[in-house]
Amino acid sequence: MADTRQLIIVGSGAAGLAAAIYAARADLSPLLFEGRQPGGQLTITTEVENYPGFAEAIMGPDLMVRMRAQAARFGTEIVTAEVESVNLLVRPFEVVANSTLHMAQAVIIATGAEAKLLGLPSEAKLMGHGVSACATCDGYFFKNQRVAVVGGGDTAMEEATFLTKFASHVTVIHRREELRASKIMQERAMANPKISFLWNVEVDEVLGVEQGKVTGLKLKHLKTGQDSVHEVEGLFIGIGHQPNTKLFRGQIELDGNGYIRTFNGTRTSVPGVFAAGDVQDSVYRQAVTAAGSGCMAALDAERYLEEQKHHAHTLPPAVVAGSSGARSS
Ligand code: NAP
Repeated sequence: MADTRQLIIVGSGAAGLAAAIYAARADLSPLLFEGRQPGGQLTITTEVENYPGFAEAIMGPDLMVRMRAQAARFGTEIVTAEVESVNLLVRPFEVVANSTLHMAQAVIIATGAEAKLLGLPSEAKLMGHGVSACATCDGYFFKNQRVAVVGGGDTAMEEATFLTKFASHVTVIHRREELRASKIMQERAMANPKISFLWNVEVDEVLGVEQGKVTGLKLKHLKTGQDSVHEVEGLFIGIGHQPNTKLFRGQIELDGNGYIRTFNGTRTSVPGVFAAGDVQDSVYRQAVTAAGSGCMAALDAERYLEEQKHHAHTLPPAVVAGSSGARSS
């Protein structure tokens, strides 16, 4: 039978590692599963200039190496494995990774989200070299350059509008002739003299793989079938995000877009389970907000565990001995 830990953290992005740093320093001896992409989304960005404390930019992967070392230094046990299943309906909670069962009194979910991508090989090769899925992170690097944004929703309109602060021109490329974005965001983008639209067009290839930087886009008009080349120095993919919540579906409350619902800080619909970072945040999605909510989740988990101890001490011995794990919250 596996030992029951106080705390398991699922995910190793800024939220998971910040939670681990706080939990380890609070002597909770957390066990952290790194998941499929150790270090999370910051490992696929280049320079991070907006994380406080780094007057000179730090590369995303370097930042995550430092956060991981900091979490390990205080005693976090870090396991390089993807969690295969969880059971949040039993006490203690069960987490299976590498076909091994792990149990904990509390769980922090920090599995993040992924930007949806077009799935083109050239897009993958130029990611971080002119291709980006985050205007807030990378817009600054495109001062006075031409960029394109793919997508027709609020994300694409928001990114396009934001990018006009830096870029000389922004072209929105949309696969239909009608935007999905809210009216106000559409109007704002359309009124911006630096933004133009290409309708019924899809990106077939990102050009510049040989040069190691984006030089343009090969486009296909979906009505006429005509190919064309559009010269740009940057491509932003704004076709939405996908929270990594598949593991938890049916066990915890999610919102309409699949993000974990949090209440009163980082508490979820299951007492003892906390959520931090992009898995519960479709609005801010920044490294610093993810790290901040990771800290909050660790503090919330610490308080919860204290309350459980106190609760157990104040129950009559028969109830504690016969406890099936059910409890009031
Ligand atoms: P979304 O509303 O699902 O829009 C995604 C857009 O990308 C759609 O226009 C879609 O085209 C296009 N698209 C999807 N897959 C594509 C592909 N493979 N190739 C080309 N185009 C593709 O996603 P979102 O814009 O991220 O918004 C998600 C939610 O967050 C919405 O509820 C939105 O209101 C909210 N949000 C709000 C704000 C804000 O209020 N500030 C900002 C961002 C997001 P089709 O239209 O043809 O399907």
